[in-house]
Amino acid sequence: MSQKKSDLYIIVVGCGRLGTYLANSLSRDGYSVVVIDKDEKALSNLAEDFGGFRIEADAVEIQTLIKANIERADVVVTTTNDDNTNILIAQVAKTIYKVEKVVARLYDLNRQRVYEQLDIITVNPTLLSARRFEEIITGEEQGAI
Ligand code: AMP
Repeated sequence: MSQKKSDLYIIVVGCGRLGTYLANSLSRDGYSVVVIDKDEKALSNLAEDFGGFRIEADAVEIQTLIKANIERADVVVTTTNDDNTNILIAQVAKTIYKVEKVVARLYDLNRQRVYEQLDIITVNPTLLSARRFEEIITGEEQGAI
């Protein structure tokens, strides 16, 4: 039998524009979501029907991740606006807590290899947007990113 969505425990770090959208969407889809942001105001942007938990704290602090029950997380997504913060948390999730799927927002493409070596999946918003623009302009699919 396949795993129920609500059995999948996802931690979203950073509740800016990207994190908010992602957390709301995953929660609506039925996943168990916890969102961490150090800024209370950012967390207040979550939708009224957001069904997950919110933690107002610095996710670089190990105690914050422990509070978020990182040891039982299936997925950790780091969406803060800082590559160093994202890699640090992603690294902790992967190497210490052995989280199966770790995805990090990454601005600096020169660092992509480092993440790959750590088995961390990266998403580069600039590259994604550029490819999408190109697809629209040329009418051609650009392939995997
Ligand atoms: P944005 O600038 O819209 O991409 O939002 C990034 C979000 O990440 C902001 O809401 C920040 O408060 C949040 N953020 C940045 N660093 C941390 C951190 N160390 N722990 C928790 N949240 C953070």
